[in-house]
Amino acid sequence: MVAVANRLPVHMGEEGWELSPGGLVTALRPVMATHPGAWVGWDGGTKGIPPTLPDSGIQLLPVGLSAAQVRGYYHGFSNATIWPLLHNAIEKPRFERAWWRAYQDVNAIFAQRAVTALGVHPSALAWVHDYQLMLVPRMLRDRRDTQPIGFFLHVPWPSPDIFARLPWREQVLMGLLGADVVGFHTDAYRANFLRSCARLLAGSGIEVRGSSVALPDGRLVATATAPISIDAEDFTRHATDPDTTSEIKALTEQFRGRTLLLGVDRLDYTKGIVERVLAVEMLLERNPQLRTGLAFLQIAVPSRDDVREYRQLRATVEQHVGRINGLYTEPGSDVPVHYLYRGLSQQQLAAYYALADALLVTPLIDGMNLVCKEYVIVQQARDGNGVLVLSEFTGAAVELPEAVQCNPFDVEGLSYRIEHALRLTTAARREALAAMAAHVRTYDVHRWVSDQLADLEAHGKPRR
Ligand code: UDP
Repeated sequence: MVAVANRLPVHMGEEGWELSPGGLVTALRPVMATHPGAWVGWDGGTKGIPPTLPDSGIQLLPVGLSAAQVRGYYHGFSNATIWPLLHNAIEKPRFERAWWRAYQDVNAIFAQRAVTALGVHPSALAWVHDYQLMLVPRMLRDRRDTQPIGFFLHVPWPSPDIFARLPWREQVLMGLLGADVVGFHTDAYRANFLRSCARLLAGSGIEVRGSSVALPDGRLVATATAPISIDAEDFTRHATDPDTTSEIKALTEQFRGRTLLLGVDRLDYTKGIVERVLAVEMLLERNPQLRTGLAFLQIAVPSRDDVREYRQLRATVEQHVGRINGLYTEPGSDVPVHYLYRGLSQQQLAAYYALADALLVTPLIDGMNLVCKEYVIVQQARDGNGVLVLSEFTGAAVELPEAVQCNPFDVEGLSYRIEHALRLTTAARREALAAMAAHVRTYDVHRWVSDQLADLEAHGKPRR
C-alpha cells in the first residue's frame, strides 16, 4: 500500500524520531507490517526524516514544500478555504486564486511522489487521505489507468448549496472521482457528496447511480460510509497503566470535592468551545453551590495559529475564562474554570478521562470526534460512571445514541443538558457507558481499515 496524507506520521520527540499519535498510523502499521508499504507526506519543514517508520518497515517518502507553498496550499487553501467550506461554512471560507494555484501545484507534487512509489510496487493500492489532497486521485488516475485508488475524507461533506460556493467546485469533484472508492464517516456526508456530483457535474455527462457515480469514460466510482475509530486496546492499556494511576492520584488531590467537567479539543472554531464555556457560565449563574462544587477543565490544543480566525478564537475563549473566574470564584476557594493551552500525551489524557465525571463534546460540526470514543473506553476500563454529553452535529453522534445528546447552538439548552447529565443515576450512566464502549470496541480502527481495504478490493478492479 502507498498511503498519501498531508503529514508523515513521525515527529522529533525527546528521544529522537517518534511515531505521532493518531488513528491512521496506528491502524496502518499492522497492515503494512505484513505487506510492504510506503507513506507519502509533507515533512513539516523538518530535516533528517528517517527512511522508514521507527520499529516498522514502512518507507517514509517526505515531500518538501517552500514557504510560499506552505502559505498557499496549507494555511491558505486547506485551512482557510476548504476546511471552513466543508464544515458548513461556519466561518466564512476565503477564496484566493493564488491559494488555489498553490493547492494544485502541491497536490501534483504529492501525486508525483506517489506515482514513483507505485511504480516500484506495481500491485500496490494507493490510499489517499483528506481535504488537503482532493486532486490527487485524479492526478494518479491520469498516470495509472488501472491503479486501484481509494480516497477517504476525514471531515464532513456539506450540502450542495454550501459546496457550490467554491469557485473550483467541478475541479475538486473531478479530482475525487479519480478514485475507485470515496469514503465518508456518515451516510449524510456521503449523500451530500452524491447530491453535489448530481447537481454540479450534470453538464459533464456524469450520472449518479444509487451510491455510485458513472463517468463518461465508463468508469464507475463507488462511495462508502466508514466511520473512523480509535485503537480501543491502546486506550484500555493507557487507562490501566501504573503511570496513569499515579497521575490520577495527583489530579484527584487537585479536584477533591468537586464534580469535574472536561473538554478536550484542538482550539478550533468548529469545536463549540465558546458555547460550552458560556453554558458552564449559565450553570454557575443558576446554581451558586456549583461555584465551589464544580470544576470545568478545558484542554485546548494550540492549532493553526497562522490563520486569523484561530487567533481570534483563542482571545475570545481566554477572555470568557478570565471573566467567568472573575465573577464566580469564591474567596478562599479554587477557580471554577481551569484552562490548559497545550497538548498532552494520550497517556496523560487517559488520566483526565478517568477522573472526569462528565466529558463535554459540543462541536458545532465535527466529521467524527475521537475524544468521545477514547473517554468511554477509559471510563469503562477503570470501572467509572462518567457521562458523555455529545453534540448531535458530530459524526460520532450517529454511533453513540446512548450519550446525552445536545444542540450546542442553544447555549441555555446546553446548560440544562449538562445539569440533566449530572443528575443521571449511576445505573443509567453505567448502562450508557457499557453500550457505547461495546460499540467502540467492536468498530475500532482496525475494523475501519479492514472494511476500507475490502471495499477497495471489491471496487478497485477496472469497472466499465
Ligand atoms: N489529543 C492528544 N492530546 C491532546 C488532545 C487531543 O493527543 O492534548 C488527541 C486525542 O487523543 C484524539 C485526537 O487528538 O485522538 C483528536 O481527535 P478528534 O477526532 O477528537 O479531533 P480533531 O483534532 O481530529 O479534529
